[in-house]
Amino acid sequence: MTEHSPNTLPDSSAGDDAIRIHGARQNNLKNLDLDIPLGKIVVVTGVSGSGKSSLVFDTVYAEGQRRYVETFSPYARQFLDRMDRPQVDRIEGIPPAIAIDQTNPVRTSRSTVGTMTELADHLKLLFARAAQLHCRGCGAPVRRDSAQSVALDVQRRAGLLPGGLRGAIVFAVAVPQGMTAAHITEQLAAQGYTRILGERQTPQGTVLDVVQDRLRLPADETARLSEAVEAALRLGQGRMEVHELAADAAEPGAVWRYSADLHCADCDIHYRDPSPGLFSFNSPVGACDTCRGFGRVIGIDFGLIVPDEAKTLREGAVRPWQTASFSECQDDLIKYANKRGIPLDTPFRKLSAAQRKWVLEGEPEW
Ligand SMILES: [Zn+2]
Ligand SMILES: [Zn+2]
Repeated sequence: MTEHSPNTLPDSSAGDDAIRIHGARQNNLKNLDLDIPLGKIVVVTGVSGSGKSSLVFDTVYAEGQRRYVETFSPYARQFLDRMDRPQVDRIEGIPPAIAIDQTNPVRTSRSTVGTMTELADHLKLLFARAAQLHCRGCGAPVRRDSAQSVALDVQRRAGLLPGGLRGAIVFAVAVPQGMTAAHITEQLAAQGYTRILGERQTPQGTVLDVVQDRLRLPADETARLSEAVEAALRLGQGRMEVHELAADAAEPGAVWRYSADLHCADCDIHYRDPSPGLFSFNSPVGACDTCRGFGRVIGIDFGLIVPDEAKTLREGAVRPWQTASFSECQDDLIKYANKRGIPLDTPFRKLSAAQRKWVLEGEPEW
């Protein structure tokens, strides 16, 4: 690298979208000026000893890390790795930095690029904080509803209906084991809840749908809606519904479901809060159920059993049985195929699906 040459990478453009390095002299760097564009993949190459690591790790990363650590309180700083100030006149526009360094860690059968570079450790923290959960049932985003967000959403949806909404704010009350629905209805009435929309049977038992309030939106006051939603969420243990009351009672109106849990109210699927372990295949909560995070399962590759589907059974389509020690199996195959009417002189790929299944999986007595 030549002395003090304004060395601008081709992709760099003006403004704040670049790290600007002035007079870098760390280790063997010779007073280097350099702009590194942000948001791009930038590769630093050169013969060994040319100062790649001095620039990337000892200057850029060191300064990014040092300034990031500076943003913490003196108390928190003592727990963080602190880097020495690099030998450089000044660096502008540097964000917090992460370095994946060039070690050769122990490799196991569970190693991936992510674990060996420790990138997976950073990503699982990022995903746990920044990921948006989508329901595996319907694909809709799953978020926690609050009384405020429910009230806003009800108003928004009511505003989209041509005649506004005539609806009931409803919460569910489970009838405890050993009690009757009539008894609970009586208790509810004593507390002023006289309107029960209906009684349902669920796997957990009988449930009463209790009306908190009936509203016309957007005509009725916002405060009344907010109050009803808040009470319904509290009494419904975090869940409530809005039932559209159709003018024609024979036709049930739409039901809008809300939940204060991490829960898809439409599919009734609960989700746990995202944790870093959920994004790690080495953690029991994050590992794939089928392979336990191993990435491989033991199975039979039918492509190895019948490598050439143009061959017929008589020609030896079933490869493992073509050796002397398995010739008995091949003889049995011919014998039983004759009995079952499986064609012996038809190429394997022309056999029907049922015939191939018979060849590959056999039959119970065989
Ligand atoms: Zn869903
Ligand atoms: Zn798997």
